[in-house]
Amino acid sequence: MLDSFTNLMPSQSNPAQDSREQSQACQETYSSLRHQFKGDLLRPSDLGYEEARTIWNGMVAQKPGLIARCIDVSDVQAAIGAATDTGILSAVRCGGHSLAGFSTCDGGLVIDLSRMRDVTVDPDTRRARVSGGCLLGSIDTNTQKTGLVFPSGVVSHTGASGLILGGGTGWLTRRFGLSCDNVECFALVTADKSVLRASAKENADLFWALRGGGGNFGVVTEFELKLHLLKSVVFAEGLIPEARIRQLLKCWRDFMAQAPFDLKWNLDLRLAPHKERVPAELRGRPVAVTSLVWTGAPESARRYFKYAFSHCHPDSVRSQTLSFLHLQTMADSDFPPGRRYYTKSGYFQYVDDVTIESFLEGLAAIPSPETQIELAYLGGAAGQVAADETAFGDRSAPFITNLLANWTDASADALHTSWIRSLFQKLRPAMKPGVYVNFMSGDEQDRVHEAYQHRWERMVAVKTHYDPGNFFCLNQNVQPRKRE
Ligand SMILES: Cc1cc2nc3c(=O)[nH]c(=O)nc-3n(C[C@H](O)[C@H](O)[C@H](O)COP(=O)(O)OP(=O)(O)OC[C@H]3O[C@@H](n4cnc5c(N)ncnc54)[C@H](O)[C@@H]3O)c2cc1C
Repeated sequence: MLDSFTNLMPSQSNPAQDSREQSQACQETYSSLRHQFKGDLLRPSDLGYEEARTIWNGMVAQKPGLIARCIDVSDVQAAIGAATDTGILSAVRCGGHSLAGFSTCDGGLVIDLSRMRDVTVDPDTRRARVSGGCLLGSIDTNTQKTGLVFPSGVVSHTGASGLILGGGTGWLTRRFGLSCDNVECFALVTADKSVLRASAKENADLFWALRGGGGNFGVVTEFELKLHLLKSVVFAEGLIPEARIRQLLKCWRDFMAQAPFDLKWNLDLRLAPHKERVPAELRGRPVAVTSLVWTGAPESARRYFKYAFSHCHPDSVRSQTLSFLHLQTMADSDFPPGRRYYTKSGYFQYVDDVTIESFLEGLAAIPSPETQIELAYLGGAAGQVAADETAFGDRSAPFITNLLANWTDASADALHTSWIRSLFQKLRPAMKPGVYVNFMSGDEQDRVHEAYQHRWERMVAVKTHYDPGNFFCLNQNVQPRKRE
């Protein structure tokens, strides 16, 4: 059992470097970059450093020795080259939303892509070129100008690179597949500074690995994305009082297996917020929040929604047609940066009655109003991609849960992390082995193999080929084979 906060975060110990060596490596990296780097180089004494060092998860307050904010591919090459020469520990950052906190490190280098945020859309071919530092919101805003969408996540301030490289699930997953299923080509800089393209035609092994393999293989500077036509959706939300949650979970479980691809139905078990739109008798009480998105013809939504709302408190139901941009920003304020977050996740082939009881027991002991048990059903277009077509984990277990604790006070760390761990242990026997890498915490390196399972050897082979020295190690790390 891990208790202290430091043990929750990724191990960043580099055996060859004590802190004196690290600071010398940092100084050498800075000296090597300062005459060739075009972007910003920020050291702890520089103006702007404090803001630049902060990432989304307030649990991870680390202090890199140098932040290199790249403005183009040659800056990325320079940063990688200087870092491999000096051996400095290096992190890669797009939106800084890694739940595990992998996009920073103490004393090392952060290769920060936040100044590389171009999005170019070609409405005729329905393709977009997106730079490696983009947030989801800028992709949505630009693609919607011509009524197009890229299927991604549900919070617009999330970074696109981390999300796409790990897989990428959201409201459109059932209709159009995972984010990584909608990438045509990656442009990246590898550990030896090579600029490569990976697509079905070029470096196909790398193309396979980048779709779900996370940041293991290089710094992606540009994605070429497939887009789809969609301007609005029908969205509905309702609250289910505690006494009816058991029945709801059973209905949801049985219904989703035959649901049309146009329907995404998510459930969050939590304490009802103290908000005006929440019926007074539910505020602060355990509830299920039921959220439905329908992407098909609006008139067809009604019959599915009626079924889903049969368990709801009648005063809590709202249903409306929403612009895609509205849908994509609705949850933004629920997950502000700087709070403390801890998570564990897993898949189920089937959510049996015993598992439902465990969820209900977990809900009864939930430690804070913002903490939630998230439940989603994937399947749909994402489930139709063969398991060995991409590195992304097993698609055959459609139920996914994400236990997400969210709080502010550091003195409550143990309370929240132990609630997550104990509920996870209870649920674990019914889970199908596997985990979505983007929903992992920093203390779960022992589950990385589980994420890839029978794809593991292929992952190791690609890693060994493209990053034999494991330069890209701050991620859900696949270690290269040791040199003979
Ligand atoms: C508020 C919030 C909402 C979320 N919602 C969803 C959701 O709806 N669906 C979903 O699937 N996931 C979701 N996630 C999880 C999210 O996919 C991961 O946290 C993801 O890593 C975030 O990407 P980022 O670029 O912001 O991360 P960063 O912290 O910037 O990077 C994370 C890691 O990605 C790699 N990386 C980043 N940029 C690059 C690059 N250009 N090239 C190579 N490697 C790179 C690095 O290994 C880095 O350590 C959410 C997370 C948060 C915090």
